[in-house]
Amino acid sequence: MLTPNDPDALIRPHVNGDLPGRRSAELLARQERRESNARVYPRHFPFAIAEASGSFIRDLDGNVFIDFLAGAGVLSLGHNHPELVKTVAEQMGVLTHGLDFPTPAKDAFTEAQISMLPESMRDRMKIQFCGPTGANAVDAALKLCKTATGRGEVVSFQGGFHGSSHAAMAMTGLVSQKRPIANGMPGVHFFPFSSCSRCPLSLDPETCQTNCVSFLERALRDPNGGLPLPAAVIMEMVQGEGGVIPARKEFVQRVRALTRQLDIPLVVDEVQTGCGRTGTWFAFEQYDIEPDVIIASKALSGMGLPVAVVIYDARLDVWSPGAHTGTFRGNQLAFAAGAETVRIFRRDEVLGNVCQRGEQVAARLAGLRTHPGVSEVRGLGLMWGIELAEPRDGRSVTELAQEVQARALRSGLILELGGRDGCVVRMLPPLNVTAQVVDIACSILLNAIEESFSHTAQAA
Ligand code: PMP
Repeated sequence: MLTPNDPDALIRPHVNGDLPGRRSAELLARQERRESNARVYPRHFPFAIAEASGSFIRDLDGNVFIDFLAGAGVLSLGHNHPELVKTVAEQMGVLTHGLDFPTPAKDAFTEAQISMLPESMRDRMKIQFCGPTGANAVDAALKLCKTATGRGEVVSFQGGFHGSSHAAMAMTGLVSQKRPIANGMPGVHFFPFSSCSRCPLSLDPETCQTNCVSFLERALRDPNGGLPLPAAVIMEMVQGEGGVIPARKEFVQRVRALTRQLDIPLVVDEVQTGCGRTGTWFAFEQYDIEPDVIIASKALSGMGLPVAVVIYDARLDVWSPGAHTGTFRGNQLAFAAGAETVRIFRRDEVLGNVCQRGEQVAARLAGLRTHPGVSEVRGLGLMWGIELAEPRDGRSVTELAQEVQARALRSGLILELGGRDGCVVRMLPPLNVTAQVVDIACSILLNAIEESFSHTAQAA
């Protein structure tokens, strides 16, 4: 394992020659022959990974990249954090799989998770361990709300993403993922999210008085509105896959007030925003609300070991035993790592780093706000998105975004795309990333946008 003191440590990006390199190309070709067509990341990032450390990945050909995808937001303490590796190695010799039995590792994890909730919620919330993916926790939360309310409808928001299982996909905005799948889960109703730059009601945020919530409110209160009271309203505080769209505070607060008045459980999907990504442990804390149900997964273990939980108000705990199971709900390695992650977050003030590095990103990208190739720069904590503007040379914004992504990669920076038509360039760094790495990454990104844009301008 590489540590920062090793002479061979991964501390700066460098890419030699074309991608993929020869050794990566061999593995990519074998993968293409044997693996499902559903694979996706190696299509945009054509390399095979040899090893990783902190915020860096080295491919089989010796190229080193800054990893601002971080396992899709999973690696909050970066790759192979030495203390997490040690903790997991120790746990490995004790117990690895424990179904839903109590164990010291699970007890410490549960204690750590509850201690990270706002104080007013700690005594009234219960935690459920389910199959170790975000989508499974989304399914569990939905089934719980249906069971507790006896209702069948669900309200979700346009642009949201909740996972790829049948039920989670039904609540997701991504039409292309759903289109080929007949007979999706019925009863999901989509309402506009507070994404003001593309307001689906064509309103001006300065004068509209958050009419997207008024629309939802009227639909839910209207005796002729066609929609019976739903079992749940599910939302992300920052739509991640949807293109890094932070909800407006007033929107969230009014949805909370409305769901409380109508006795509808409010489910916040913190799979991506949770565990410190936005600068607080959960993003809802920044909106001064208390949800009824919280879904968390991705960064719970800090290092990519699978685990997912639903944390919910005890009054909803109407499950009968075995009502939602999952063989892998007792991953002791993830529990040990997760408790250690919380300890490291407190000791190293990682949430403070998220805020400082977030401000650094905001300052470095400030010039893009008036750039003709950029329509919006959005972010919260260490979750950033740069929405590109439609180019004037006949290419689609998707192609432009892919060019930015490819140019950044060739300069040693891994960046994901998201949003409608993949037009948002996203940054999801590890949360303990250093100022120096953020600085290098921002320079690469700015250059990649500049080059892609001047290429566009020349073509036009
Ligand atoms: N909810 C949100 C907000 C997500 O971002 C994701 C994954 N990107 C999921 C749910 C699904 O998580 P998983 O891929 O672990 O099923």
